[in-house]
Amino acid sequence: MERTLAKDLFKQIGKKVQVRGWLNNVRSLGKVQFLILRDRSGFIQIVIQEKEEFQKIAYLQPGSILLIEGEVVSSNSELRCEITNPKISVEVPIEEPSLIEYYKPKIPSDPEFILDHRPLALRNREIAAVFKIQAALAHAYRLFMVEKMEAVEYFAPNMIGASSEGGSEFFSVDYFGHTATLAQSSQLYKQIMVGVNERVFALMPFFRAEPSHTTRHLTEGKQFEFEMGFFKDWHEILDIQENCIKFIVDYLHTHHQTEIDTLGGTIVSAPKDVPFPRLTFKEAQELYFKRTGLDERNEPDLSPVAEKELCKYAQETYGTDLIFITDWKTCKRPFYAYPKENDPELTNTFDLLCAGTEITSGGQRRHIYPSMLEGLKIKEMDPKHFEDYLSIFRFGMPPHGGFGMGLERLTMTLLKLKNIREASLFPSDPKRIAGQRIKAHIFFGGENIRGEIIRLLKNKDMEYKHLIHEATPTSEDSARVRGTKLEEGVKSILLRGKNSKKNYQFNIPSHFKLDMKAVAEAVGEKCEFEDPAVIEERFGLIIGGVPPFGPLLNLETFFDEDIKKRSQVAFNCGLLTESIIMNTEDLIRLVDPKWGCFTKI
Ligand code: ATP
Ligand code: MN
Repeated sequence: MERTLAKDLFKQIGKKVQVRGWLNNVRSLGKVQFLILRDRSGFIQIVIQEKEEFQKIAYLQPGSILLIEGEVVSSNSELRCEITNPKISVEVPIEEPSLIEYYKPKIPSDPEFILDHRPLALRNREIAAVFKIQAALAHAYRLFMVEKMEAVEYFAPNMIGASSEGGSEFFSVDYFGHTATLAQSSQLYKQIMVGVNERVFALMPFFRAEPSHTTRHLTEGKQFEFEMGFFKDWHEILDIQENCIKFIVDYLHTHHQTEIDTLGGTIVSAPKDVPFPRLTFKEAQELYFKRTGLDERNEPDLSPVAEKELCKYAQETYGTDLIFITDWKTCKRPFYAYPKENDPELTNTFDLLCAGTEITSGGQRRHIYPSMLEGLKIKEMDPKHFEDYLSIFRFGMPPHGGFGMGLERLTMTLLKLKNIREASLFPSDPKRIAGQRIKAHIFFGGENIRGEIIRLLKNKDMEYKHLIHEATPTSEDSARVRGTKLEEGVKSILLRGKNSKKNYQFNIPSHFKLDMKAVAEAVGEKCEFEDPAVIEERFGLIIGGVPPFGPLLNLETFFDEDIKKRSQVAFNCGLLTESIIMNTEDLIRLVDPKWGCFTKI
């Protein structure tokens, strides 16, 4: 028998079929069990009434691979039909419970946990829908570029010798002992390709070493690039950008309404008959001021709040979520931006904002050789570094321009996602590489930790005293042998979250007690003291010897505000028989803790 997919099942009503896929979940209704099977096209419900069949799967967990034969009958469920009288074969039995509840319609976990379990989380129906749509975006973009624009795709290098546009946000890689950089865009290459094919496009990776923790920046992403020569008016680039977005939105509605429905049914609005409003940067600033009373008119850039407000304006006034902002200041645009003929302080450039966020930057480029040299000079860049690129202007370039549009930004804004990480399969940011947390260097055992603390202090040229003394189990003992005041002592307490089972470190002055209510508020869950045996096993530390250096143990670390009141602090530095006395300020600088009031007397 041939395999039938979920999406074609309704065509087989009354017939016998074979289906194959992943066990998603099983619901039990008295004597009847409903098994949901997942395949590449959707979900299938299988009704199991026979005890013998159910016993085959009763012990199985989500992810098991099953092959099932049975009869298709119509049903009034969301799936329109279901399979009855199944004969089940277990192809790959999975007995281990999943690490994350991806098989539920919405994963009931926080975003960080979802990212920590990305390979499984991607199987979730909603999350999978995002990436099916993302794939469709890329496909629609190519269709538009090839069929509507007659543009030619190019494949530019991503590992390049020197940065193309200046700036410091580049990643370096060791290239046989030389330093290479990872490309931020293919700007220079796409202009070179205009000299060959007039109209060119690409979908290429970009890398940006921006240490930002915003909801709209990644350090690796994909960018849609487009560039064309021979227009009459540079606004033709905006026309193409606009048509491109409308084509993509239309394509999604035609081919991916199912996925859109899975995500709640609405995506950004870009009605065909409504032109995206076009405001100059100056007009946009004035409008923002008029609408909010907030004055950014002397700023060289739009703030994220202003971008949101301008999109709100477009939605309220025209019923579209997109708006162009044109004519940006020269100081805010790259050296190749085309200066306005009547005002060289401004450029023929634009940003496209979508539902509150910039998704595209583009514009006309300088195309005459002396003008390009002039552009480099204004930005104090050395033409020697751009010889290859500059040669195209010495040997004939037409008026040209284009744009770069972030794939993840577009996915996020079209689908109204809250965070760009939801629009990247394996997001990289300052905390993660390809989805995985960057593993902190974790220290284990009192001596290692003491060694590391002293290394840090020496390295930063900080003043400290290192004392070796008898074991001091209590704070009073410690203060006595150190010759410090009781309240200068810092007590480190390791807690365990009751839900998450995660460890936290709280540091308070020795003469206080920890206020567990304040702790619960700070971490968002009730906590209890971690078991001393666990502390010893996990960190190699004995209670009383734990230093207030939680980050060395990869722990979220909190300091009580009261610690700031004394100029010096003293603590056991990993061992009960050794202490460090140091400046409070230095400790704060080394640990960079979170703050709050966590004590009671
Ligand atoms: P922003 O001001 O939002 O940081 P930008 O103006 O620096 O962006 P451009 O150099 O104009 O970015 O890049 C073109 C497009 O690439 C942007 O409009 C955006 O869609 C996307 N993009 C740029 N930087 C990032 C990033 N760090 N993460 C995700 N997408 C980005
Ligand atoms: Mn930009």
